[in-house]
Amino acid sequence: MTSPAPRREDNSRMDYQDTLERIHTALKPLIGEGKVASYIPELANVAPDQFGMAVLNIDGTVFSVGDATKRFSIQSISKLFALTLAFQREGDSLWTRVGREPSGTPFNSLVQLEAEQGIPRNPFINAGALVVTDMLVAHHGGGEGAQDALLAFVRSLAGTGGTGIQINGRVGESEIRTSSRNAAMAHFMKSFGNLHGKVGEVINAYCHHCAIEMNCIELARAACFIANKGVNPWSGEAVVDPSSAKRLSALMLTCGTYDAAGDFAFRVGLPAKSGVGGGIVAILPGECGICVWSPALEESGNSRAGSLALEMFTSLTKRSIF
Ligand code: GLU
Repeated sequence: MTSPAPRREDNSRMDYQDTLERIHTALKPLIGEGKVASYIPELANVAPDQFGMAVLNIDGTVFSVGDATKRFSIQSISKLFALTLAFQREGDSLWTRVGREPSGTPFNSLVQLEAEQGIPRNPFINAGALVVTDMLVAHHGGGEGAQDALLAFVRSLAGTGGTGIQINGRVGESEIRTSSRNAAMAHFMKSFGNLHGKVGEVINAYCHHCAIEMNCIELARAACFIANKGVNPWSGEAVVDPSSAKRLSALMLTCGTYDAAGDFAFRVGLPAKSGVGGGIVAILPGECGICVWSPALEESGNSRAGSLALEMFTSLTKRSIF
């Protein structure tokens, strides 16, 4: 694109409002194109023609457009927060139970698990997230403890505005009723000794983590610690050390957007994690957290308008990690 980069108000802060408005206007004709996830019955009821986007500077400045304050099901974006929390508890020993390579197979695939002895390729496919959830279940005294711990954690990452974040019980139950494939994976990993807790408890906690509802501003804010070398900008606390923040970003880039992570990195150039609720959270290191939401998905499982919005964002601003 040939447009000028957005103006920078001072050395540390960009003004992204015009950019977000341009993106929203340009994408309006195709918002709703694609398919809302329907394999979880409660998600099938979400109207596809919605779109919100927010950029949260680590100094607290908020830019937003469209439905940025409307909460939606974060689904697989919860895997990013669950991994961070489990890493706080387990440290590097976590990597003995889950890998960090892109899987090259769909997020809910069983095929690799047998060949690789029950060690999932990475923490952002379902099998990996189930192992991570198993760790949280062990550290928090069971499935309900793991659920509460993750909810409290995302609330703390989202700062003072995050206190109203909730789990949607209806979505959680709907997912549990249709979780045969996830349960199969969990049982399979248990047969290899890589799942320690009760399968039912792990599935319960995992499905309720996916059913957390947040809006774009809350999610962009909650991701800012990754852009801020692991420090929660709202509390000043170190969530993870700078090297682990780098590693989280690397995993987002290589494994965060399903089987399309290579194409997403090519088009967008930012570490990101998507979910089948239509949300995508991304970070620009040292600067900001970004979240876009639009429920209609591409074949890959990533939000169609969301992916295009992030692609436009890095093209218009000329800012990415590359
Ligand atoms: N709860 C969903 C599942 O386990 C998460 C899918 C996703 O967002 O990738 O199928």
